Amino acid sequence: MTQDRKRKQAVRARQQLTSRRYTPLAREDAARHPQAGQAFSLGALLAECTSAPVTVPAWFKAITDEGAADWAPPKSFFSKLLGVDVPHGTILELAGLLAQRGLDTQCRVESADPDHRVVVVTEGWRFDLCLTQEMVNECCRQPACPRRPFGTDIIWCDEHLRRRSLPELIEMAARLGYSTVQEADYEPERCGGEPGADLLVRAAVAYAGSAAVIDRLISTGFDDPDSAAEWSADDTLEMRLRHAIDRERLRLRNVARAEADRIRQLTEACPTCGTKPTPGPQATDFPPRYCSRRCAPQLASASTGVWSVPQ
Ligand SMILES: [Zn+2]
Ligand SMILES: [Zn+2]
Repeated sequence: MTQDRKRKQAVRARQQLTSRRYTPLAREDAARHPQAGQAFSLGALLAECTSAPVTVPAWFKAITDEGAADWAPPKSFFSKLLGVDVPHGTILELAGLLAQRGLDTQCRVESADPDHRVVVVTEGWRFDLCLTQEMVNECCRQPACPRRPFGTDIIWCDEHLRRRSLPELIEMAARLGYSTVQEADYEPERCGGEPGADLLVRAAVAYAGSAAVIDRLISTGFDDPDSAAEWSADDTLEMRLRHAIDRERLRLRNVARAEADRIRQLTEACPTCGTKPTPGPQATDFPPRYCSRRCAPQLASASTGVWSVPQ
């Protein structure tokens, strides 16, 4: 029996014993890999990559033994640092992603599944190193989360984005806005409508912070129509810009109201008075888990994001 099959069988046996789902159990298994926790520098990993002999990966031998493979595996080597066979191309891609940080960058193995992937972390970044193809994917920054981040400006998956504080959401809104406006190149219709903006606004609703996030998205994601730039010299362009801004603000406010309704629907009882919050046209400037503004505690400062997020 191959190592892969043995491991899968062991995970399935634990699945039956514990009645838990297969995927999280397999993830825990990967976190127990002997190499998990191993620290190394990017330079040391590259040195291995350029000096270790080419090997036929163990996962490929396993499926060949079972007569299932009619294709060649990627050129790989056995990495003592990672404890697995890994394609050269995967390591080179990781080196490219970390190029600006240099060879001394310290990395650590978070988990390893020798037939599929190794998760490597460095300075808060998490990378999923694919072992069956020459490929690296950035992961959500939350340890052990297997999902991808939403994008380069939103570095968490949707679930973990909702657990960030309001100041962090506002900062991500600014990053998203700046990259949008840079690409728009004086075409207002190309700004707004970003799916990432919707995610940030929805995450801020629980803190009653959607207005602050929307303001930041608008102020960074669009040029200022009142500034003495191309806009003021071209009436049509200025009108288009103002229209695009109004339309985006309205769209994002509707996103916030829909999210507040969703939270009200899911909340059984207001934490203060026990009444079930009712969906409707209530304001989004108090946390929607409370039935009314009267029941919501006083917020010292909207920017601190001290409202607790409903679970
Ligand atoms: Zn995540
Ligand atoms: Zn109440």
